[in-house]
Formats: sequence, structure tokens, C-alpha cells
Amino acid sequence: MLIDSHCHLDFYTEPNDLATVLANAKAAGVDRLLAIGIGDGPATMHRALDIAAAHPDIYASAGIHPQEAQQATPENLAKLEVLIGHEKCIALGEIGLDYYHLENPDISTQQAAFIAQMKIATAARKPILIHCRTSELANPAAKEKYGAANAEHDLLTLIAEHRTPHGIPGVMHCFSGDLAHARRSLDLGFYLSFAGNLTYPRSTGIRDAAAFAPADRILVETDAPFLAPVPHRGQRNEPALVVHTAAFLANLRGITPEALATLTTTNFQRLFPTVA
Ligand SMILES: [Zn+2]
Repeated sequence: MLIDSHCHLDFYTEPNDLATVLANAKAAGVDRLLAIGIGDGPATMHRALDIAAAHPDIYASAGIHPQEAQQATPENLAKLEVLIGHEKCIALGEIGLDYYHLENPDISTQQAAFIAQMKIATAARKPILIHCRTSELANPAAKEKYGAANAEHDLLTLIAEHRTPHGIPGVMHCFSGDLAHARRSLDLGFYLSFAGNLTYPRSTGIRDAAAFAPADRILVETDAPFLAPVPHRGQRNEPALVVHTAAFLANLRGITPEALATLTTTNFQRLFPTVA
């Protein structure tokens, strides 16, 4: 059994589309899914939980993405508190910092939303799912907006201050950092979840981190419908395709796909003990 630890199931909106995607996942041996509840913004962050409530093998998260940080209003944070209290809402996220897109909220707005949501997750005793994107590869205007600020550094500093003292771990979703970032994330107790970009030719830093990470701290995900792994790169992604990322990761670590599946499933269930 494989678990896709991060997919956006509420983005499959065409009639019967979700049913087909779920059937494909089952057929590929991807038996548990974590549906990410960011919606198109806080107004629709409940949609993932609606899907999870209707399917025994699907679990949900809820959270306000850094791109929507200006919408982390008292009303929307109150909605999030209600969602995170639900038994099948097992994590809060994806939350974090994104210094990549020019149109994103400014840094202080993003950081305030991130801190407020970490507090809600801690009160609910649930793990957080982290989104982090640096401005390194951003266009020149975005680079200028975010200046010398480093999203990875700011993120890890805020986690160490607001989260680590409470001892509840989390997941670096779509881990895209290098070895140094991996070490610091692991030191903070985080799991590293690898997505389709692990398989892309230029991702040498991610592959170094994936080979280095301890066996009890790795997960696999699709981030579907985005970021399809090789050999489906450029196509629409879906949870069934996590098998390609898992096979790639197994090869990288010199273990069988079966062993990798057992490992990542055990890790997921340790982090989320209510998942059978
Ligand atoms: Zn995502």
C-alpha cells in the first residue's frame, strides 16, 4: 500500500472526474490519500473535508495558503478552528511562506498568518503541512519585492520559535530544498515529503536530501493535479502517479519499491495515528 500524503482532490471538478481519479489510485495500489484543504481560498477550504467525510480511505487537512494570507481574518481563522476539530481533518495546512510570486501578500502579512495558524494547530494537537517557496528562481520584479529575505530561513526560524517548543511534528510538503535545509528541517522534528519534482533532471539538491534523509522521516506525495513525475511530466497529475515518485525514491535509496511503500506508510501512520 502507498499513501499519497498531499493531493488537491477538490480541484477535480468535472463530472465523474474525481470518481475516475480515485478508481485509478486504487488500481495503482495507492490506498490512502490526504486531501489538502486550502480550496481556492478560505471560503472553500472545507471542500477537502467534505470529500474525506464521504470516503473512508481519504483524510483531509485545512489551512490558509500563504498566497491567501491577507484572508487570515478572525472569521476565517475561526472557521479553520472548527474544521481542524473534525476527526478526519488530521493536519493543518498547507501553510508557510512563499516569496516567489510578485502578487503574493507582503512578508509581514504572510508571517502573521503563518504564526496564527501554527497556534491553532498546536491548540488542536495536530501536525502542520508546510509550503515554502523561495525567491531564488522568481522573476526579477518578485526578487526585488522580497529583497534579500530568505523564505527557508524565515520559515525555520518561525517554526523553531512558535512550534518546536510544543513538540508536535509536521511535514515539509514537496520538499524542494537542499541538504542543509533538509538537516535543519529534520532537526526540528519534521518529515520530508517528496513529490514529482524529485524525478526532474535538474533536481540534484532535492535528490541529495532524499538520499540522505533518515528512513523514518520520508513520505511521498503527488501535489496533484500539479507537478506530475517523469514520465508524465507536463501532464495533469493524479494520486495514482505517486508510484513513479516512490519507485524513483526507492531506486535512489537502494531499496525495493515494496520496502519503500512499507516505510512511507509506516511513517505516515506514526505521524497520523488515526490513519489505519
Ligand atoms: Zn499543495
